Amino acid sequence: MTPTVGLISLGCAKNLIDSEVMIGHLAQAGMALTPDPELADVLIINTCAFIDIAKQESIATVFTAVKDRSADPARARQKIIVAGCLSQRFAKDLPALMPEVDAFIGLDQLTKVAPIIQHLLGANNAPALTKDEGPAATADPRDFVTLKPRFVPDYTTPRFRLTPDHFAYVKIAEGCNHTCSFCVIPQIRGRHRSRTQDSVVREVAGLVSSGVKEINLISQDTTYFGMDQWSGERPKPSSPVDSSKGESLATLLRAINQIPGEFWVRLLYTHPAHWSDELIATIAACDKVAKYVDIPLQHISDRMLTAMQRVTSGASIRDLLRRMRAGIPGLGIRTTFIVGFPGETAADFQELLDFIAEFRFERAGVFQYSKEEGTRAYQMAGHLHHMTRRSRWSRAMAALQRIAGETNQAQVGNSVRVLVDAPGIARTPWDAPEIDGSVEVDAALPVGQFATITIGDWRGYDLVATQ
Ligand code: SF4
Repeated sequence: MTPTVGLISLGCAKNLIDSEVMIGHLAQAGMALTPDPELADVLIINTCAFIDIAKQESIATVFTAVKDRSADPARARQKIIVAGCLSQRFAKDLPALMPEVDAFIGLDQLTKVAPIIQHLLGANNAPALTKDEGPAATADPRDFVTLKPRFVPDYTTPRFRLTPDHFAYVKIAEGCNHTCSFCVIPQIRGRHRSRTQDSVVREVAGLVSSGVKEINLISQDTTYFGMDQWSGERPKPSSPVDSSKGESLATLLRAINQIPGEFWVRLLYTHPAHWSDELIATIAACDKVAKYVDIPLQHISDRMLTAMQRVTSGASIRDLLRRMRAGIPGLGIRTTFIVGFPGETAADFQELLDFIAEFRFERAGVFQYSKEEGTRAYQMAGHLHHMTRRSRWSRAMAALQRIAGETNQAQVGNSVRVLVDAPGIARTPWDAPEIDGSVEVDAALPVGQFATITIGDWRGYDLVATQ
């Protein structure tokens, strides 16, 4: 009997691609998919574990699935698999904490999910698991996670897209070589490994020819693309994008810009330490590259940037932002900050507020520092009271909201190219899917196509087109 599989995907767009890869392999193996967990012989929960709140959501989702299964006799034989960052991060602990879960798989098992399912279901014709596919070398046979993951998708990797037809995410690399002191990602996803430029370009060309209008390039650090493949000395954590050394984000963008068709390509998750004048000039020159840059800055105070191990300084960030604004006309900058990091003084926080007021980011968000086990910051002295973190978060958010309103007001009267997401809803080049705002447009505009509209009004973070 062909098993029916359900999948719940939590977390960010990077995790979503992992879900798409798993579904691609399940479909290739002839397994049926269902959006209804009740009907699934096997339910996969692809988890997130980036910060505390994400961990809690993942754990709650697993426990709900376990509870629902035991409450429903028709689901008694259902197998539950926990995949993704939670099982990769807590590989050693989860089997004991979640005895009802049937298997834990990590990032290197994304492409092996079909044989693992056949093995779990005890299918008569299930091929024996190879050494590579079998349980990890721990005492628990439900633990399939291999530490230090190495997988990175290629353009040939089976994938079933879960995003609407007109936009797609493309993962250009996996892992991260930075050691930001608040972050667990490098421990979860391993060291940075870039795809080849040819692989990414082939994938983008295929998506564009199938009608995709927006390509969102993602990885943990998109600016480090290609650098891990440069020959000679290993690039420093702060090395700039430089195409004289080999493939880089600049060469990739130029190659994508050559692909025929009407589309825009958007850059997410860049690191301020790697920007270069070449990258700025490339974005300015490439007409298919959206004039939008996501550059998480985290802070501006030198004390905080040093404590966070961001390998950059307040002065170089300010200088970079000025060069970006001067070099890329019409640029919308999205950033995120962390407030309440251990040791953050009132003066550090005030410097951040002043910076926000001076640079007036078109799109921005703030996170309260989250104390994550296994990070360097976890051990640091000077953790702040949660009320202090919360109040700083509120003040920073209020400052950003004020600027967002003024930014929207300044757009009124402008003629803007938008991509229509749904009847009456579109996005400008400054609005990444599922992150930024939207524009209310004429409901008759065709979905999945570009249109040019005039901004007539705004509400909160969203714009309204004249009808
Ligand atoms: S650049 Fe820093 S914050 Fe981003 S994934 Fe890497 S270690 Fe984490």
